[in-house]
Amino acid sequence: MTKTSILIVEDEEKILRLLELELVYEGYEAGKANDGLKGFELYQSRKWDLILLDVMLPGISGIELLRRIRAQDAHTPVILLTAKSSVEDKVSGLDLGANDYITKPFQIEELLARIRAALRLKPAIQQPLEVKPSLQLADLTVNEKTRIVTRGENQIELTPREFDLLIYLLKNKNQVLNREQIIENVWGYDYYGDTNVVDVYIRYIRKKVDLPDFAPLIHTVRGVGYVLRAGK
Ligand code: CA
Repeated sequence: MTKTSILIVEDEEKILRLLELELVYEGYEAGKANDGLKGFELYQSRKWDLILLDVMLPGISGIELLRRIRAQDAHTPVILLTAKSSVEDKVSGLDLGANDYITKPFQIEELLARIRAALRLKPAIQQPLEVKPSLQLADLTVNEKTRIVTRGENQIELTPREFDLLIYLLKNKNQVLNREQIIENVWGYDYYGDTNVVDVYIRYIRKKVDLPDFAPLIHTVRGVGYVLRAGK
């Protein structure tokens, strides 16, 4: 029988190490990430039976990571690790589909009990995930589930952010989108950096998607923003 696998996303090295040791000692297989983005990468790299997720994380927050996980998977149990004071985090975490939370500092026995409970609550028969059809525009195809992007016969490698940007443009194809809209939807409301980041990322995906022998799909609308469409 394969071991039950648990992904731990926690930036405090001591807690991360302790959790890993305890979980392995209890017979679980443990994976670990010390920031939100690494956590998301590891989450996508394989199937996990449960996720332990710290709320305050560098990179992307635990809440944002939970939102991304729940956008593609409603089943894997998630237990949030929260600071004592943050009632808001607990509420938004549970609203976003966390199964449980435990407040730091916690007793390891209590956490282990919560883990066992969350694993038991998991439906015995996993509903197969709905197979979403690929998004398409002209000869560009993007599969949200497998994250495979192709242009004609060419497979295109995108970073997670580039992928999110392309998906957003594709879901709003033929609409001119301004930088603020793009920032809000791809980087999130809590992004406070420069909107020039949009131009930089458009340049990245343009290079990868609008290959030399293909008609350009990403168009600049001067003074407004960008639009993804086939033809001029
Ligand atoms: Ca933390």
